[in-house]
Amino acid sequence: MEKELITVIVPCYNEEEVLPLFRTEILRVAKEMSEKNPGLEFEFLFIDDGSKDGTLDILRKYSAEDKRFRYISFSRNFGKEAGMLAGMEHSKGDYVVIMDADLQHPPSFLPEMYGYVSSGEYDCASTQRTSRKGEPKLLSFFARSFYKVINKISQTHIAESTSDFRFMTRQMVDAILSMQEYNRFSKGIFSWVGFRTKYIEYENVERAAGKTTWSFWKLLLYSFEGITAFSTAPLYLAVIMGIIFLLLAVAMTVKTLVCGEEMWGTPLIVTLICLVGGIQLFCMGVLGQYLAKTYMEVKGRPKYIIGETNETYKKRKDI
Ligand code: UDP
Ligand code: MG
Repeated sequence: MEKELITVIVPCYNEEEVLPLFRTEILRVAKEMSEKNPGLEFEFLFIDDGSKDGTLDILRKYSAEDKRFRYISFSRNFGKEAGMLAGMEHSKGDYVVIMDADLQHPPSFLPEMYGYVSSGEYDCASTQRTSRKGEPKLLSFFARSFYKVINKISQTHIAESTSDFRFMTRQMVDAILSMQEYNRFSKGIFSWVGFRTKYIEYENVERAAGKTTWSFWKLLLYSFEGITAFSTAPLYLAVIMGIIFLLLAVAMTVKTLVCGEEMWGTPLIVTLICLVGGIQLFCMGVLGQYLAKTYMEVKGRPKYIIGETNETYKKRKDI
């Protein structure tokens, strides 16, 4: 029987409450899958994203108990995007799974996902929420608007309500790793690389324990990140508005010349100054955003820094 390895990547930030539940559940599913498919093996790669609680201690314990459990601990919090990247870069599997620690990405989906991907029909299996139940109304509204806007202005289609819960082939992971950009927006990257993806529909599940780190503002900023990373359309705004105002100026000049009368009252001038000034500042802001992104890319800083792994920890302990 040919051996196949599945790497399960789990980004963790302050997840001490939920990790024991996650381990029980993932081990149950892994056992079930290995029994059904002899030759199927697992490795669990946890990325501790600079947690301030006992997450790292728990991960040390897990990896000491079971060789299949590995971990990488960042020197500080770098964000989930960096966690997923580090996981993929250090994954050894023929297949790679990315899932949250909080059981909002139920491990019970893995057998079905494995079925789709191992059949060769798909390169990736993911989940798509059928409803936004339990989510604040305002957030749903903004989320929907975000997908509408980005799909209008970006060439990369980003499907709505998809998650970072992914079951991928090694080919797809290597393709993702070939995209070494600093400003990472995974939803866009997953689409950009292409490949055949199967979306499994599911109802949203609440967090098993602990609390989310995403606030409304963080999500809003993340959506701007997505737009600037995958579209340059906002830059055209400046051009379009510039043209509109140019035409307006020409029309007004013609009208003054033809009518030959005084039509530039002070209020009109003040209004125009404010309007044009506002638009200019807005356009400069948009330009600035792209410049800022370019600046970060050019600096070429590492996307994460590893503070400790199960291997370095073991070596230090052995000495
Ligand atoms: N996470 C992370 N780094 C962060 C924030 C979150 O690695 O800075 C992890 C977190 O531990 C979880 C996953 O990313 O496994 C999703 O986070 P969360 O549940 O807070 O987000 P939500 O499900 O509310 O979108
Ligand atoms: Mg969650």
